[in-house]
Amino acid sequence: MTARNEIREKIAIATKMLLAERMIGPFGHCSARVPDTDLFAILGHKDDHVKDASEIGSDDVVLINEEGIVVEGDLDVPGERHIHLEIYKKRPDVQAVVHAHPFGCVAFSIVGRSPKPIWHLCTVFAEGIPIFDSSIQIDTPELGQKVSEVLGAHKAVLLKGHGVAVVGESIEDATVSAVSLERSAQLEITASSLGDVREIPTSELTEDLVSLGLTKDEFVSAQWDYWSFRIQERHKG
Ligand SMILES: [Zn+2]
Repeated sequence: MTARNEIREKIAIATKMLLAERMIGPFGHCSARVPDTDLFAILGHKDDHVKDASEIGSDDVVLINEEGIVVEGDLDVPGERHIHLEIYKKRPDVQAVVHAHPFGCVAFSIVGRSPKPIWHLCTVFAEGIPIFDSSIQIDTPELGQKVSEVLGAHKAVLLKGHGVAVVGESIEDATVSAVSLERSAQLEITASSLGDVREIPTSELTEDLVSLGLTKDEFVSAQWDYWSFRIQERHKG
C-alpha cells in the first residue's frame, strides 16, 4: 500500500471512530499531511449523499493543496478545512488534525473553561487547553489563522459553542487523543455532579502515568487498535 493510500485508509477508520463516539455527524473531519509532499488528506463529501458509516472508505478522502484546492479526488471538501491548513502552516510538528463537535467539550467551551487533568488516560492535555472565544464558522484562512494562534503550542483548542481541534504526531495520535479528551470531559461533568472535582496533581503527572508504562507510540497504538476492533465489530453483518 502506498503512503498516501495508507493515510486515506487511516482517515476513513478515524472517521468511523469519531462517528461511533458521536463526536462528528454530517460535519467534522480528520486530516493528515501526505509525507514528502505539500499536500494534505482530508475527508471529502457530496452534499446530496450522506453515507452510512459502514460505507465510508479511502475513496472518501481527497488530497488538497496548501490553498485548500482539491488536487486528487472527485469530492467537495469542508469549508472548515482552513482550521486544518492554518494549523499545519504554524505547527511543523503536527502531522494530523481532528476537528469535531463533541457535546462534552462544547459544554466546557460554553462556560468558558477547559477540562482539567482528572483521568489518568487523558493527562496529555494537562498543560491546558485554550479556548477560541468565538462561535463563528472557521471557513476562511484568516479565521483559521486566529484559531491556530490560540492553539499555539498546545495539543487542543476548544472552539466556543462549536467544537474542538486536536492535533497529533499521527492520525492515530490525533484521533485517540480527541476521543480521550471528550471522554475525560464527560467524566468530569459526571464527577462534578457527585462532588468537588479533584485534579491529578502536577507531581503525579509523570511520563509513566501518561503512558501507563508503555512507550508513547505503544500507548497510542493500543488505543487505536482497540477502537479499530470496535469499529470492525460494529460494522459486521
Ligand atoms: Zn466545526
